[in-house]
Amino acid sequence: MMTLTLHNTLTRKKEPFAPVDPTRVTMYVCGPTVYSRAHIGNARPAVVFDVLFRLLRHVYGANHVVYARNITDIDDRINKESKETGKPISEITSVTTQHYHDDISAIGVLAPTIEPFATQHVGEMIAMMESLITEGHAYAAEGHVLFDVTSFYAYGKFSNREKEDMIAGARVEVAPYKKNPGDFVLWKPSSDDLPGWDSPWGRGRPGWHIECSAMIEKHLGETIDIHGGGHDLIFPHHENEVAQSTCAHGGAPLARHWLHNGFLSVNADKMSKSLGNIVTVDQLLAAGHNGETIRFALLSAQYRQPLDWTQDLLAQAKSTLDRLYGTLDNLSDVDMADNATPCPNVLSALSDDLNTPRALAELSSLCKSANTSSEDSERASLKGLLLKSGGLLGLLQQDPESWLKGGSNEDDTEIDALVDARTTARANKDFAESDRIRDDLLARGITLEDGPDGTKWRRGG
Ligand code: AMP
Ligand code: ZN
Repeated sequence: MMTLTLHNTLTRKKEPFAPVDPTRVTMYVCGPTVYSRAHIGNARPAVVFDVLFRLLRHVYGANHVVYARNITDIDDRINKESKETGKPISEITSVTTQHYHDDISAIGVLAPTIEPFATQHVGEMIAMMESLITEGHAYAAEGHVLFDVTSFYAYGKFSNREKEDMIAGARVEVAPYKKNPGDFVLWKPSSDDLPGWDSPWGRGRPGWHIECSAMIEKHLGETIDIHGGGHDLIFPHHENEVAQSTCAHGGAPLARHWLHNGFLSVNADKMSKSLGNIVTVDQLLAAGHNGETIRFALLSAQYRQPLDWTQDLLAQAKSTLDRLYGTLDNLSDVDMADNATPCPNVLSALSDDLNTPRALAELSSLCKSANTSSEDSERASLKGLLLKSGGLLGLLQQDPESWLKGGSNEDDTEIDALVDARTTARANKDFAESDRIRDDLLARGITLEDGPDGTKWRRGG
């Protein structure tokens, strides 16, 4: 079996990955906070960890990988959004969750094995806080529960930070009830107008960090194989998850392998709602881009590298996919081999810390070989390698002919009808009419190709 090597934030090195139990590989990724529609930067971790999920399923077997990606539906940003818009919280979280599902499935992201919601796990969070209090790692004060950072000898080690930096970086609130300025909130009181749950400390709500620790424990166990998220989560979110879970579990590590994706930027600025430079998947789809083009663009840089989002990036992704689908279209006369597997070069690129740019380049070289091959068994085997490798990346699974036609089904039906009308006109030797239809279609950017099997059409030249 090929060795899978992944960078580990814990050691800041690439390391071979081996799960504790190869029949139950566990992965958790911090999902979206559902206060407003996710942007294409938020979609990057969804796509990156989707590729890792697909690779793990390939290596260990689809039934042996348990992937949990949560929905953070308790958060002060949601409460703020509700105050500002006058919409009920439940409406904001359910609509935003639905948008998230729509957007990421449009870019080929598989559903995770489990999708836990914070609101469904408040009982588990309270139980974890109680055990942290019993063990002397947390304390209750004025309706709050706080984690005592001095109680965990390794606090700060995960993110490699000095205490002073951590306090400044987390912008932790200085409050009279805190023992140390760096102590972070596990629970806080809710006024009547805010969502709240009954607890031993009164009506209140959990902090963000404890949500993930409790959901991981419940669904995946005390120590998981892989934990992922964007690199902005290393501190304070993951540092605090590590502190809570390690202390609640008698020192057992929370995760053995930590992966963090780099950021998506626009003109070198991070894409973020507060900078007003966000683009969402639904906007790109509405502008006529295909979900697969967006996915390809997101995978064109290795996940730890920054990725600058430009029109040119999308245009290049589209033209490469056009070439790949063009090859698959040319291979439509052969069936892929029954025992087809992904190309070893694609597997080895992905096994090298998810080197997606190299994997994509390998797809192109498979196409070059296919384009120059005239031997049917070789073409069938190349077709198998292309489709299976594409499957690992979540690409190339559409019908090549409809990809090359592009556009919506509605337009397609109309264009098909016009092409048929032209064929009839030609059969009737009404060349004035057939030329008129061809020119009309050309004006709409549709090119016709007459061949022995009839007329094919495609968008663009
Ligand atoms: P949030 O909904 O803000 O909690 O973010 C959801 C996920 O998206 C987290 O894993 C973030 O690290 C990640 N993320 C947010 N902005 C970006 C960006 N511009 N590029 C890449 N990842 C991002
Ligand atoms: Zn988390």
